[in-house]
Amino acid sequence: MPPVPVIFDEFLLGYRGRIAGLNCLSDPRKVLSADIWEGAMYSTFVEAAARVNGISIEQVLIRHTCYPLRDLLGPASTTVPSECSVLTQLSLPTIYDLIAYCDGCVEEDAASEHHIAHWRRDHQIPGLLTCPVHTTQLRFVRQSIASCTPPTVGCPDAVWLSQNQYEAYARNPHIAVALGFLQELLRANIALDHRLCVFALYQELERQLPNRLPNARDLIQLIRDTYPPGWLDITIPAENRWHARKAGDWSFARTTSGIALAAGLLFPSPAIALARMLPVPAGAPEPAVN
Ligand SMILES: [Zn+2]
Repeated sequence: MPPVPVIFDEFLLGYRGRIAGLNCLSDPRKVLSADIWEGAMYSTFVEAAARVNGISIEQVLIRHTCYPLRDLLGPASTTVPSECSVLTQLSLPTIYDLIAYCDGCVEEDAASEHHIAHWRRDHQIPGLLTCPVHTTQLRFVRQSIASCTPPTVGCPDAVWLSQNQYEAYARNPHIAVALGFLQELLRANIALDHRLCVFALYQELERQLPNRLPNARDLIQLIRDTYPPGWLDITIPAENRWHARKAGDWSFARTTSGIALAAGLLFPSPAIALARMLPVPAGAPEPAVN
């Protein structure tokens, strides 16, 4: 079988499952051990995906995983992680261990030239509940299902929010800014300098609360008071529940989700938040952050 090309917006986990399915492998983790790479040997699936598609490993991570939201994937890192850690972490930037899809996108795939329904990377942003293209509620299935079968309309294993809950989250303007901020980071592969982000957040907090010294405790309390608790629980990875810890926990500021949530409550739009947080032009004085 000739190499299977990746689809332009395909989530890496789904791509691996699609290759396994086309080669009749029941376990997608076995794709590297099967004879499907035209005799070539690869130590990692990311490496195989890069070589087969004529792109670099970094391009695979940037286009087909949520790696641009680096800190949501785990501890802060500025280097491209090993494939082992990427595949381990692919499940993390999702709602618990769930992978999202959209019925409308699946129907469009079925009607497309290639007829391939696939898992889209851009649906996997933590806390995202709406398809950016069809503006309808996303469906979710367990990663174990998504890693070996394509998304289907009416999948019996799919779960989604009640309409009331979904509409309450979809109407929340702060959620919209926080999600727009994450979408922009993912789309443009922007790496945040958390020191600059915290400086911009504190500067804005001081402007809005002029009688208090800006601090992490106030910011976390504002996040708790502003966002619906149910939505926070599905947005912040279970192993990093800084919003549930004691007030003043600093770890929120070292996570992309923490920065996005703070931006969503302090700024009126993702564009304004990003403009305030991105590095100042060369030659300008550096902000001091304590
Ligand atoms: Zn859609």
